[in-house]
Amino acid sequence: MTRQTWLRLLAAMVLLSLFIAPGIGAAASYVPDIEYLRLSPGQQLSAAQAFERDDWKNYEGNNPNFGYIRDTIWIRMPVKSDPAIDLLEVQYSQLDHLQFFLFENGKQVQHYETGDHLPFAQRPIQDRHFLFPIEKTSGRNYQILLKVNTLGAMQIPVKLWNTTEFYEASSVQSQLHSVYYGILITVIFFNLFIFTALKEAVYLVYALSTLGYLLLIGNLNGTAYQMLWPNYPGLQNHAMLLAVPLAVTFTLLFSRLFLKLRQTAPAWNRLIGFALLLNLIIAAYTFFTDYSIGSRLTVAFAIPSCLLLTILGPYQWYKGNPQAVYYTIAWGALTIGSAVTAANKYGFFPNNFFTTYGMQIGSALEAILLTLALAMRLYQERQDKVVAREAELSAMAARRSAELKLMDNALHNPLTGLPNRSSFEMVLNDLMMRSPDCRYGVAIIRLNNLDSVTKTLGHRNSDRILELASKHYNAAIRDLPGALPVEQNDQHIYFVAALDPQTFACVVNANTAEAAPRAVISTLEVLRFPVDYLGMQIPMDVRIGVAVFPEHGKDANTLIRRAIIAEGSDRATERGMAYYKPSRDSFSADRLTIASELRRALTDNQLALYLQPKLSLSTNTVVGMEALIRWPEKMGTIRPDEIIELAEQTGLIKPLTRWVLEQALNLRARLKEQGWDLGISVNISPNNLREPDFPMFVQRLMSSFHNHQGTITFEVTETSMMQDPANSLMALKSLNAAGIPVSIDDFGSGYSSLSYIKQLPASEVKIDRSLVTDLATESEDRVIVQTTINMCHSLGYQVVAEGVEDEATADILRDMGCNMIQGYLLTPPLPFDKALAWLHGADGRQQGLG
Ligand code: C2E
Ligand code: CA
Ligand code: CA
Repeated sequence: MTRQTWLRLLAAMVLLSLFIAPGIGAAASYVPDIEYLRLSPGQQLSAAQAFERDDWKNYEGNNPNFGYIRDTIWIRMPVKSDPAIDLLEVQYSQLDHLQFFLFENGKQVQHYETGDHLPFAQRPIQDRHFLFPIEKTSGRNYQILLKVNTLGAMQIPVKLWNTTEFYEASSVQSQLHSVYYGILITVIFFNLFIFTALKEAVYLVYALSTLGYLLLIGNLNGTAYQMLWPNYPGLQNHAMLLAVPLAVTFTLLFSRLFLKLRQTAPAWNRLIGFALLLNLIIAAYTFFTDYSIGSRLTVAFAIPSCLLLTILGPYQWYKGNPQAVYYTIAWGALTIGSAVTAANKYGFFPNNFFTTYGMQIGSALEAILLTLALAMRLYQERQDKVVAREAELSAMAARRSAELKLMDNALHNPLTGLPNRSSFEMVLNDLMMRSPDCRYGVAIIRLNNLDSVTKTLGHRNSDRILELASKHYNAAIRDLPGALPVEQNDQHIYFVAALDPQTFACVVNANTAEAAPRAVISTLEVLRFPVDYLGMQIPMDVRIGVAVFPEHGKDANTLIRRAIIAEGSDRATERGMAYYKPSRDSFSADRLTIASELRRALTDNQLALYLQPKLSLSTNTVVGMEALIRWPEKMGTIRPDEIIELAEQTGLIKPLTRWVLEQALNLRARLKEQGWDLGISVNISPNNLREPDFPMFVQRLMSSFHNHQGTITFEVTETSMMQDPANSLMALKSLNAAGIPVSIDDFGSGYSSLSYIKQLPASEVKIDRSLVTDLATESEDRVIVQTTINMCHSLGYQVVAEGVEDEATADILRDMGCNMIQGYLLTPPLPFDKALAWLHGADGRQQGLG
């Protein structure tokens, strides 16, 4: 219900009253002058006896009211001869026993007995008031006698009517009542409805208090008896008794809740509580006492309660209780209305619409006003809730965005914005979980020069450089076939993650990448570009380690760890990139076992040295042998270069190289015995060059094999020398001075500086297999090899081509002026006996060729 609807109802009521007002008090109805007899309860009289009595008294005033008495009252009144007058109305509905007698020329002609202690059906005319039809014949004299007994207030207001006119007036009255009842019922349902929705007691209590008024006024009007329980006079009487205390009780309860007295005025709260208790006791007491006492008690106790409430409103208003404004006005309307009606009843005010219906108007106004107040309160509370909810939502949004920010921070590198290690691990684990059949390569890109960059240029610059580098790596990896994004959103797509300031990582589909080796190589080259910063070319010394899922690990953590191990391996140092190998992993359990097995193999002499011949292209004769390590027991499970790597990592390289050297000298002695005076090349690890006593050991060894002076060549790879150029150079120089020829192995596989090579005390350069293999098909390689040969010759080095597998390659190399070849074209490395047999065979072939 909106406020407007209420206002419309109110307006309708007022309008209706304007139409009706003139109808009240029309000509064909009048209030007769009456006489009365008052007899004590014991005195019994028949109507005829009463009629004949001569002690009738005139009643002054036209609203007979004898108060609460047990006596019998007889009323006598003449009826006008006007034939239109044919109805008596007793305008009070609460009389217990009422007898009507009509006397025609002094003789009783009509008798009715009724009262609200009798069923409603007993009434001669069914109406909320008592109505008696008068059957008259013109020209005769009529008088009416009423005998009344009642336990309540002895009020006997009477009026004589023309029936038609009575109904006209009465219908208007009942319309007014209907409007009034309608308002109260609507208010009741409205508040009940809100109560069911909100479960707030104040609405229920208000609905009940309004119901109390509805019952009270319905009872006072006689409407309740007529409409609700016409056949139960007992119920009617008790309802009448209960209506007052119930209405007061609920009003007290409502006032307490509505004004929030518990919180705002505890003293008043207790007072109202006390009044409540009294009214409830009285309500209960009505069941044990008679109507007369009950009705007087209820009214007696209602009055102080109502007075209390009348003071409560203004007082709370004065105290600043915001609810009290409505309350005071509403309660004031009811109080004034009731007072006006009461005053009118006792003749203080003239009879008019407002005085007659003051109580109804007051209580309707009260109901409407308080309902408005409750609706406002509802609106206010809703509003408060909306505001609170909005505040909560915005707090939630703020919290959420803070959380997102935190999460973002937790998953990204603060400097470059790249996903960090946790993020990368998540992505990786997610990939492996979603497609476990795929092969993924996890690559670690480590900047080994960052430390010195920071030391040289400072942190601020190195941060900028790192930012540039991360962009550069992201772009490079993006172009790599099979590269998978590690983070993708509307703003950016990242292919690399930052594990720590100098370590980046990426993940590729291994099969896709392996199918495009050239693209991979060019990506590696791009990664190795120096970073262009303020015109400076800053080398980052990028090294890459790769671990492959599922071969090298099945979880992100392991894969990353192993890629890092691969990155740290010597192979990565030499080649710039290395795959993970268990043998390179000094931290794996497998490797520990293998290392101890290798130690045992070394002491138990279970290693073997194979020989591979080196052929001179100009003379077509075998001019030397390269000694290559073998572990017969482990053939097929661990490759020679892996044995070496393992030995280097576990410190076994020192005894291993010494064993190899001794073994090589032994083999050379045996070859010589067989008539083959051939030099033997031995591979030396850069670790050996760092051993302080290595030159001494070599010298001692060579002196014990004095007839092999100058026949054992040391092969060192150019990249391994670069790890510690100064010391390696020193060691090599001292060895060379002791008469050991030096050969530069794997030339062309790394990036060495020519100026450095020039300083090496070498006599021979071995061109790496990777440049030789495709010589027949790759013209670019031909250019490189030719240039290398020319360059080496100009420096005075002999040139050996490794890995020659076919005649065509050998022919090209011969044309290029290469001095020697080595490779499967001649033979793979062979154990000593077979090598000897091959030499004999080759000798035969040579002679055949010769
Ligand atoms: P390296 O010094 O470059 O040795 C040449 C490698 O090429 C040998 O591999 C040899 O078997 C292989 N090879 C020779 N001809 C051909 C050919 O025509 N085609 C192909 N595809 N390969 C050919 P191996 O024996 O497996 O040795 C691998 C590496 O291990 C060696 O490379 C060397 O760096 C290291 N190594 C081997 N034995 C020793 C050793 O006693 N001491 C040290 N420090 N390193 C060793
Ligand atoms: Ca070699
Ligand atoms: Ca080599």
